[in-house]
Amino acid sequence: MSASKRVLVTGGAGFVGSHLCDRLLAEGHTVTVLDNLFTGSVSNVEHLKAHPRFSLLIRDVQEPFFMPVDWIFNLACPASPKHYQHDPVATVRTNVMGMIHMLELAKATGARIFQASTSEVYGDPLEHPQKETYWGNVDPTSRRACYDEGKRCAETLCFDYHREYGVDVRVIRIFNTYGPRMAPDDGRVVSNFILQALKGEDLTVYGDGSYTRSFQYVDDLVEGMMRMMQKEGFTGPVNIGNPGEFTIGELAKIVIEMTGSSSKIVHLPPVAHDPKQRQADITLAKQELAWEPTVPLRQGLEKTIAYFKHTLAV
Ligand code: NAD
Ligand code: UDP
Repeated sequence: MSASKRVLVTGGAGFVGSHLCDRLLAEGHTVTVLDNLFTGSVSNVEHLKAHPRFSLLIRDVQEPFFMPVDWIFNLACPASPKHYQHDPVATVRTNVMGMIHMLELAKATGARIFQASTSEVYGDPLEHPQKETYWGNVDPTSRRACYDEGKRCAETLCFDYHREYGVDVRVIRIFNTYGPRMAPDDGRVVSNFILQALKGEDLTVYGDGSYTRSFQYVDDLVEGMMRMMQKEGFTGPVNIGNPGEFTIGELAKIVIEMTGSSSKIVHLPPVAHDPKQRQADITLAKQELAWEPTVPLRQGLEKTIAYFKHTLAV
């Protein structure tokens, strides 16, 4: 545990951000969330609103912002393809202008700044599994590029502010993460499949189901984030993900089995520019952070299924 910090969490009312806030408050820090509630929700942090060390600011990272702060976690950005493609120009502005505003804040205050980058910087990867040294395969004109290139540019800004102005940056590349408080309507595969199975609807597999992802439970991610923020002398980028690789077809079958659902699997047309395979190489995270995931897929799914069952019941 580190000394108490004044922490700004952009995107803190989102899925990952709200779990991070829980952890930061539990460790004695003072937490301010800055969020425009585009994909996040007040309900994700409702249980924290009365906490004496918690505050929520409804603001947009596209606007400059100042407050005295020791740590900045920059998570503000819609993460699901459905939401980041809804207003692609806003996605680029959030990634680029938001990053500049937060880096300026770090430069002005001397705060350490953490960027939630993504495995999407590897695009549709030609190297497998993906190591941090791989530069990626992104089509800059595709519908995913607002997110992929936005996040790539945000990384560039972190390393330029680090080299030019000595800003203390920490960059992680997050692989597909799931868990309670995922937005039910954001179209990501784990929440879609669980909700479809619980409602007895067909599970929608895009394409033939052979594409792969490695799925990480949110508690493992938060542990990796905390270790990275507290590590001295290591900027990253570092992959934080679960190396267990599953096809989307396998995931659909596991969800049907674990929910005891009578749902069937249907195959819909494949999505353009959908990365075919993705698996985290976490050698660097193990070396530098002594971190590796501890929650196997079925254990994490059990908790996530219980969460969505509860949300459907209320
Ligand atoms: P999320 O959509 O649940 O959370 C994003 C949060 O950012 C939301 O609360 C949203 O309202 C807020 N936000 C969006 N645009 C904003 C803006 N312009 N100003 C202020 N707030 C804004 O997504 P998440 O899954 O919690 O992802 C959190 C971060 O982690 C994102 O930066 C995402 O790119 C990154 N990430 C997530 C995953 C994953 O699998 N969950 C994978 C890779 C990277
Ligand atoms: N996917 C799917 N059915 C769905 C939602 C997603 O087959 O209902 C697929 C999607 O095409 C991709 C994978 O699942 O191959 C992961 O999609 P998600 O949107 O969760 O994450 P990302 O594409 O950002 O990795």
